[in-house]
Amino acid sequence: MSHYPHMLAPLDLGHVVLKNRVLMGSMHTNLEETGDWNRVAEFYAERARGGVGLMVTGGMAPNREGGVFPGAAGLFTPEDIAHHRLVTERVHAAGGRIAMQILHAGRYAYSPDCVSASAVKSPISPFPPKELDEAGIEKQIADIATAAARAREAGYDGVEVMGSEGYFLNQFLVRHVNRREDRWGGSYENRMRLPVEVVKRVRAAVGPDFIVIYRISLIDLVPEGSTWDEVVTLAKAIEAAGASMLNTGIGWHEARVPTIATSVPRAAFTWLTARLRPEVSIPVITSNRINTPGVAEEILAHGDADMVSLARPFLADPDFVAKAAAGRAAEIAPCIACNQACLDHTFSGKISSCLVNPRAGHETELTLAPTPAPKRIAVVGAGPAGLSAAITAAGRGHAVTLIDRAAEIGGQLCMARRVPGKEEFHGLTDWFATMLARTGVTLRLNTEATVETLAGFDEVIIATGVTPRSPGIPGEERAASYIDILTGRVTAGPRVVIVGAGGIGFDVAEFLTVTDSPTLHPEDWMREWGVGDPARTPGGLATPQPEPPARQVTLLQRKPEKPGRKLGKTTGWIHRAALQAKGVRMMGGVNYEAITAEGLQISFGPERKDPTLIAADTVVLCAGQLSERSLAEQLIAAGITPQVIGGADVAGELDAKRAIDQGTRLGAAL
Ligand code: NAP
Ligand code: SF4
Repeated sequence: MSHYPHMLAPLDLGHVVLKNRVLMGSMHTNLEETGDWNRVAEFYAERARGGVGLMVTGGMAPNREGGVFPGAAGLFTPEDIAHHRLVTERVHAAGGRIAMQILHAGRYAYSPDCVSASAVKSPISPFPPKELDEAGIEKQIADIATAAARAREAGYDGVEVMGSEGYFLNQFLVRHVNRREDRWGGSYENRMRLPVEVVKRVRAAVGPDFIVIYRISLIDLVPEGSTWDEVVTLAKAIEAAGASMLNTGIGWHEARVPTIATSVPRAAFTWLTARLRPEVSIPVITSNRINTPGVAEEILAHGDADMVSLARPFLADPDFVAKAAAGRAAEIAPCIACNQACLDHTFSGKISSCLVNPRAGHETELTLAPTPAPKRIAVVGAGPAGLSAAITAAGRGHAVTLIDRAAEIGGQLCMARRVPGKEEFHGLTDWFATMLARTGVTLRLNTEATVETLAGFDEVIIATGVTPRSPGIPGEERAASYIDILTGRVTAGPRVVIVGAGGIGFDVAEFLTVTDSPTLHPEDWMREWGVGDPARTPGGLATPQPEPPARQVTLLQRKPEKPGRKLGKTTGWIHRAALQAKGVRMMGGVNYEAITAEGLQISFGPERKDPTLIAADTVVLCAGQLSERSLAEQLIAAGITPQVIGGADVAGELDAKRAIDQGTRLGAAL
């Protein structure tokens, strides 16, 4: 019997039966913008081969003014139809189904030509939108319906009309953007006229035998957002207008509540889908932070939704469904919800990929064919770089021995997973352990590699990582390192000063201020962030009530700028807000004068003025890292040329994304 009977059950939509209850949610990958449609087609075909029931493309603009940025991919011309047909044909040949998302960005379009209900600028865009007149609104509806008809012509199985996340259709629904007094504004009936009219016209354009998903915002998480009554009224009207399914949208992009980051509890918003489900008779899809077949199965078995939407997990592993169905769920590369290689890339104009799976978005270029000439390969260091190189090379048929002096695999990942809100890293180290066994890597833990023991291998890969940088502050011997703190070797006192406000300084501050990770307790997490019930407060916004901090923490850096500026583009604000909620004092532009029994003596600016003592029981050093290359140097001196990867190669940029990418690419090239 299948382990996931509900997840793998077919879903009958009348004119079509989906083979299981798993939807690959829409992701903007920037692949279409490369113009290489073979690459786009292969991205989706690989995921179709992996058995997902239905995929939704990244958002396609229905017209120029609706594109998320000038030049964003869309479906405007006959030439566009031919490109999209390449995708649908490849997906269908692989046994998959695919719907095209129609995304009109409204005032979220990064363009001076953006349009909306009223001329109310979004806090996350520099451009005030133009208020549409009656003819302008009619044009938008017609363009969306035309895009749907073109999607059908291009061979798609359906469309998803994007009505959530604060985009165009969502903008008409709420009074803080829709200030109109005509038939498109004012009463809720008027404000919902646009999305309902859009769905009616889309249905009319595509005919009855075509999937039309409407993505509805169940909780806006912005002031003056929709009430639950309004959400239900809209859902019913959208069903009556001809939608086949409702997909869940959570939070506007301008919301100050995290909705998909790793610190958000798994399936944190499914309670809203569950509440909507009995109100309509079409299938409802739930979404956000569902990243394992176990979580998906539980939701469906509990009757909280008819289908689950997972997006980023399909970047991490295109074979998510096939592996679950084959009883190999432990081999599914887990999405750790870090956003580092997907959304952070999307928002900086790069191709989306995945920290865990560097092949994502690079399917045509990074291939892992079996090797014609197996070699004996030693990899020293079982951190993310070494692990990735080892499993990639072994998976291709090389005989790989992985050596580490530690008692467990993971390197820096073992520290990351101790940080509250980073529990997903456990899944990553577990996955590496599974894959070492699966690919037949010989693992030697508690073992010191030496020049002598490495001499007999055909290739030696050095992934020995980093050592913490000593900042050279007088009295430094009194301080603890971040490793002391995160491994529990040192217990910090009630007042702590952290030297260095990079990624690790922030992690340590979180570790020291949080007692019990709210990520593991959804109700606590909702209280911390002020997620309420849209049935009680419009938009579901409540007053955040963070738990008091476990310690009083001060976080310092020398650079005269706001600490945390270099954190991830889409997650840095979450880390900053989380620490602010814990009363962490952050300061830039300081000089470290001395560490004493009383605390840390600092001064300010190049003139070293305003000497100040920050009283502290514990000073923690998080001052970056240096590459650990001593073994590499000994090998070179002995005439053996190793390949050096990860933090041992470049400490300054030490992070798991670069380490895994470098390890995988080396493993693919050997
Ligand atoms: P980092 O991000 O490079 O930060 C090092 C910190 O140490 C900076 O605040 C730097 O600021 C300070 N510093 C550097 N040299 C110093 C010196 N000689 N004396 C005193 N302070 C000094 O390094 P990290 O925090 O160790 O993190 C390492 C990597 O892990 C990062 O590249 C990051 O990608 C990754 N990581 C990311 C996250 C995340 O995004 N949440 C979390 C953990 C790790 P000043 O020079 O201004 O003092
Ligand atoms: Fe998930 Fe991180 Fe990969 Fe994005 S980069 S898909 S969030 S693991």
